[in-house]
Amino acid sequence: MIDTDLLIADADVVATCAGRGPQAGPAQGHASLSERTSIASCRGRIVWVGAARDAAAALALTPDATVIDGRGLTVTPGFVDPHTHLVFGGDRRDELQRRLAGATYAEIAAGGGGIVKTVAATRAATEDALVEAALPRLASMLAHGTTTAEVKSGYGLDLDTELRQLQAIQRLAHLQPVSLSSTFMGAHEIPPEYRGRAEAYVDHVIDDMIPAVAEARLAEWCDVFCERGVFTPDQSVRILEAGRAHGLMPRIHADELALSGGSAVAAQVEARSADHLIYIDAPHADRLREAGVIATLLPAAAFFLKLGQYAPARMLIDRGVPVALATDLNPGGGFTPSMPFVMSLACFGMHMTMEEALVASTINAAAALSVDDRCGSLEVGKVMDAVLIRGPLTEVLKVGTTPMAGVIKNGLRVC
Ligand SMILES: [Zn+2]
Repeated sequence: MIDTDLLIADADVVATCAGRGPQAGPAQGHASLSERTSIASCRGRIVWVGAARDAAAALALTPDATVIDGRGLTVTPGFVDPHTHLVFGGDRRDELQRRLAGATYAEIAAGGGGIVKTVAATRAATEDALVEAALPRLASMLAHGTTTAEVKSGYGLDLDTELRQLQAIQRLAHLQPVSLSSTFMGAHEIPPEYRGRAEAYVDHVIDDMIPAVAEARLAEWCDVFCERGVFTPDQSVRILEAGRAHGLMPRIHADELALSGGSAVAAQVEARSADHLIYIDAPHADRLREAGVIATLLPAAAFFLKLGQYAPARMLIDRGVPVALATDLNPGGGFTPSMPFVMSLACFGMHMTMEEALVASTINAAAALSVDDRCGSLEVGKVMDAVLIRGPLTEVLKVGTTPMAGVIKNGLRVC
């Protein structure tokens, strides 16, 4: 008999998303659904998954065990959001009205808005203020089923503020249930004081910021915004290789506004993840596959920025590139904390199937953060992070209503 302190009993459907590592090609469409299934955990770890009728003979409930009646529910792994900018100062609500009136991102940036405005507000914010502002965003993500998330710096663009943002992320990891993975993104934009001197800023990132971040053990990843007018492919390679030399593994914002070299850089440096990829073509997709790079797609960013185009998810999947999904939660154009909304956009905007979108939001997203050995699927030995959905799996795709009947984190019911 297996000791059990949490039992989800007799769920209508369990989608385990089983399998280590990113699922690619046809495997991306198999979320391993089974009916009338129970899942047991003990001290936060999954200890048993099987047919509901076999549970009683296999499991010994502890005296204080929690039993959740799974009838009427679909159970999935907790969602993993592998791309957010959720720690920042200030807000940019005023820009939204201008954007709705037709102003472009470039026009808003020229008027002192955009990333530069958030940089000024973040530089002015204390670490406490950054933490306080981020907590409700994380609570909202959790309520929508996210149990693990990545968070980037990149609104400081100077050493002190970048470190303060990363320290805020480290504190947040201990203050609330969502597990966090931390990314240094000093190369998010060229700061105002370095305008026209991009190479000097790249040197500053490489010579001063990366060593300081690594020494303070404040990040696992290094990210760069590789795009025309921001960082060139050569600069991106230099920064990502410097990061790797200091133990910060590479990921990249790539080909969001044009096929501008980002996916080629991702393949060259063997980044764990290349993100956005709206303009990627088939030859570059093949290079990602050969280099073992995961394509992390952010359709909510394309939606809110009115880009009029989504990443070619079908082409990527058909060519065997593992696809993950993320919210891109940020103050300028990432207005959703909800992985279910992102899944809906993936299905209705990018022609992914329900199961492909679920795999992209669980095991593949976990792989994009290199935590797929711990979470991202409902398998014995993994952390008991799960989402309880009222009704069938497709309820996830409805917008403006929540299908959430509960969220489990580390074997505890947190929503
Ligand atoms: Zn981003």
